[in-house]
Amino acid sequence: MSAQIIADLRSDTVTRPVPGMREAIASAVVGDDVLEGDPTVRSLEDQVCSVLNKDRALFFPSGTMANLAALWLQAERGTEVLLDSECHIYNWEVAGAASIAGVQPRPVIASNGIVMQAADLQSALKPASSLPRTSLVCVENTHNGAGGAVSDAAFLQAIREVADGQGLPVHMDGARLWNAAVALNVTPASLVEHADTVMVSFSKGLGAPVGAALAGSERAMERAWEVRKRLGGGMRQSGVLAAACIYGLEHHMEQLADDHANAALLATLVGDVDGVRVVQPQTNILMVDLPASLSGPEVARRAAERGVLISPWNATRIRAVTHLDVSREAVAAAGAVLRDVLAEQ
Ligand SMILES: *Cc1c(COP(=O)(O)O)cnc(C)c1O
Repeated sequence: MSAQIIADLRSDTVTRPVPGMREAIASAVVGDDVLEGDPTVRSLEDQVCSVLNKDRALFFPSGTMANLAALWLQAERGTEVLLDSECHIYNWEVAGAASIAGVQPRPVIASNGIVMQAADLQSALKPASSLPRTSLVCVENTHNGAGGAVSDAAFLQAIREVADGQGLPVHMDGARLWNAAVALNVTPASLVEHADTVMVSFSKGLGAPVGAALAGSERAMERAWEVRKRLGGGMRQSGVLAAACIYGLEHHMEQLADDHANAALLATLVGDVDGVRVVQPQTNILMVDLPASLSGPEVARRAAERGVLISPWNATRIRAVTHLDVSREAVAAAGAVLRDVLAEQ
């Protein structure tokens, strides 16, 4: 394998805590969050409530667990959940919906080839009397599988109107909601106004080592507290983790715009190689469709030999994600390497 890594673009989860974040971790005031509460966790949860304009938020060890809790508390066992066919909950969360929450995900295909829209959801709805009952709608913003595609506030409002037609709650997987807000230059709260529950992550672009939050009504979060504990997510002196998340919220939000600019640079660098098609990035995720003679795993292997780590997304597509641990210079260098690898067909 390569002697020296130029850039690790496999995911924005690979970021390591910066010195300031490590200091915040070291000096965090802590308590037992399963007993009387941890003051730093409480403070993070309060901050999340105000950023999202929701009644209450709960700190979770992972986005996967927070999504699962959202399903558990809003979708009765034996019912179905409507979601985007390319979404994270359906494709990347190890069938937790089916195997743990006991619900049947029903994937809805995005007719625009990007993100499931209200009209797609409308066509997927069955008469209210059919069985299994539909109990929940899930959306994702930004949409990872669609290459970090951004949806605006009107998108969710339209989804909400359709969901309201059958009294269905709406959960948003907002692991990268921050990126959507920065890309649109709007507040995160404006993008989640019509969601009953929202998951946000701190361990993607914000650079914390671990952590996510679930936000919603007081009542929903009371139940989420119980579900979190059942799933093994009750944490003790978790203020050391929450301190890192607070640091990320306060110090790494604005730099997401740089990540977006870097993804655009990468797209420019590899986009005109013969046979290559890039999905023009709206945020920090670049999807590259490969020439017929190349496969995702093959390109990933060849790039890694030259110090550039990317993910093979599937047989015909690779994914490269920019983040705070890769500078513009590193992205430019990685782009030149990727360009060469893609040109060797
Ligand atoms: C990463 C991610 C998750 C899961 O978060 P973890 O903290 O890794 O469990 C959920 N949804 C989306 C869209 C993600 O990108």
